[in-house]
Parts: sequence; C-alpha cells; structure tokens
Amino acid sequence: MVERDRNLVLVALGGNAFQSREDRGTSEDYWRNAYVAAKTIVKVIKDGYRVAVTHGNGPQVGIISEWMENLKNRIPPQTLDIAGAMTQGWLGYLLAQAIQNTLIEENLAGRVRGVVAVVNRVAVREDDPAWLNPTKFIGSWYTDAGEVERLSREKGWVFKKDPRGGWRRVVPSPNPYKNVEAEVVKTLLREGWVVVASGGGGIPVVEKHGGKLVGAEAVIDKDLASEVLATELGAGYFVILTDVDGVYVNFGREDRRKLNTVTASELEEYYEQGHFPPGSMGPKVLAGIRFVKNGGLRAAIGHLYEGYEVIKGTKGTQIVPD
Ligand code: ADP
Ligand code: MG
Repeated sequence: MVERDRNLVLVALGGNAFQSREDRGTSEDYWRNAYVAAKTIVKVIKDGYRVAVTHGNGPQVGIISEWMENLKNRIPPQTLDIAGAMTQGWLGYLLAQAIQNTLIEENLAGRVRGVVAVVNRVAVREDDPAWLNPTKFIGSWYTDAGEVERLSREKGWVFKKDPRGGWRRVVPSPNPYKNVEAEVVKTLLREGWVVVASGGGGIPVVEKHGGKLVGAEAVIDKDLASEVLATELGAGYFVILTDVDGVYVNFGREDRRKLNTVTASELEEYYEQGHFPPGSMGPKVLAGIRFVKNGGLRAAIGHLYEGYEVIKGTKGTQIVPD
C-alpha cells in the first residue's frame, strides 16, 4: 500500500461546479460557477494543503457530440475519446484560471508555483463488461419520444430514461484502473503546483500489445477515476463535492437519514442494499469505499457550497476506516 500524505487532498468536482440546475450554460454561467469552486480550493490551499482537483464532464461531452452531429455534413465528427479530451481543455482552463486569479485576489499566489491543467488519459480494460451495457448519461434531456426514436435510428445512439425525467443518451462507462499521467501529476504536486487532473474521468484508453494505447468510445465515471488517481498519488484525503449535502439512506423517502460519519464497511452494506443509484450517488459511494479500503485516511461526500467544511471533516458524509 502507498504511504499516505496527510498534506495532500484530492477534490473531485461535480456538474454543479460548472452549471447549476437553473443555469442555461452560457460562458458567464461557467465562469461564475468555476469561481465558486475556486474559492473553496483556495481556502484549502490557505490552510497549507497541496491540492489536486478533478472534475466531471457528462453534460459537456454530450454537448460537444451534439455539436458534431449537427454539423456533420460540413465538418467530420470526431470520436468520443477526442470529445472527452476537448472537455479537459475547456473545463481545465476555466478551473486553472479561476483558481489562479482567486489566489492572486487573496494574496496567496506566492504559496504555490502555479496552477496547471494536464491532459490526462485513464486506462480501461478491453474485456470490461461495460462495453456491452451503456449506462453513463451524457448531453441533453429529451422529452419527445418520437425524436428519441429518430435519433436512435439515424445516429445509432442508445437512450435510457433518466431518473430525473426525460430521456438521455447513454454510453459505456468501463471501470478505470490506472491513470497514465499519475507520475507527472505527482511530480507537479511535489513541486508546488495546484493540478487539475483526470478531467471528465480521463480520456479512456485501452492498453494494447507492447503497451501502446488506443482511445476508446466511452466516458469514464469521474468519481471512480478520481479514486484511482487519489490512491496512486497517496493522497491522505479524497473529497467529492456535488449538489447534495451528504449521502442518505432511503433517499427520496420520508424516512431518509443522512449519514454523518460512517465506516467503509458499514457504507458497503448500505451500498449492497441498493440505497445508491448507479448514475449518481452509486459511483461516489463506491469511490469513497475503495479509497478508504485502499488505505486512504478519510473520504468525504458533500455539497460544493459547504466544500471547505466537507473537506475539513465537519459537514457532509465522512467515510472512515473500519
Ligand atoms: P455530480 O454531477 O456532482 O457528479 P450527480 O448528479 O451524479 O452529481 O449525483 C448527485 C445526486 O445524487 C444528487 O443530486 C441526488 O439527487 C442523487 N442521489 C441519489 N441517491 C442519493 C442518496 N442516497 N443520497 C444522496 N443523494 C442521492
Ligand atoms: Mg449532477
């Protein structure tokens, strides 16, 4: 097991770090939200921690593939791994700039060498059963069944009913097992950089004979990929910030109950009882359990707007070793 660094935190940002439910998704919305996330990151840096930041890309990779589909008669569409790489540049730029500018505003720029977003590949297995069962929601919500039928016929897209309403395109989401750039991220962190990494779960690649890598048509879950990186880095703490204030059992029911502090094994029992759906809370909980079982000191899941408290351990759901 990798030795754990008590000074290193990996913070994984959810969709609301870029677009909240009320937003249309303009560039202004993206910037405003990125600065909210940056404020939390900077507070943690101020406390003396080194920080790696990861983020999701579900809505954005879907938007890019819709842009490509709609223009395909004029510009050849690119594959999903390339679309994922585009989102790393798009969102990595926003976060790097927002964090850097916030550090300057707070007179803390001298604390770090700088902020950098890395293009990041994540390895998945060629024989992963996920290839045959697409589950990851990307892009817009569709409400017109006729349109959904036409898109599946014309574009070969697979759609599923989103638990939050409407239909959405789904793509395979194979299990990540290795971050190709982990060594680089580690070196940058050691040298004092704030690193935005593993964006959108990383660009999915499959390892072929002799170690050559080939991009794959998939979107990796950002929470599971963040755990892989956090563990490879030997981070002490792994924090997932989203749009709910913690992990609940019986979520959506009157008798729901928030878990404040829970051991990895206890949480695993709730996971097996089916309290956490696959497309949303499921992978976060699984990532938290894996991190702690792999030797992490503490994992936490909570609301972005309480991000600092969640990271410090006073809010959200804290997952601790048994
Ligand atoms: P993100 O974009 O941050 O990755 P998701 O939308 O994928 O976030 O997951 C967060 C959502 O999970 C919450 O908005 C909440 O509605 C949903 N959710 C489902 N089950 C639970 C649960 N048991 N406890 C808390 N939230 C849950
Ligand atoms: Mg969300």
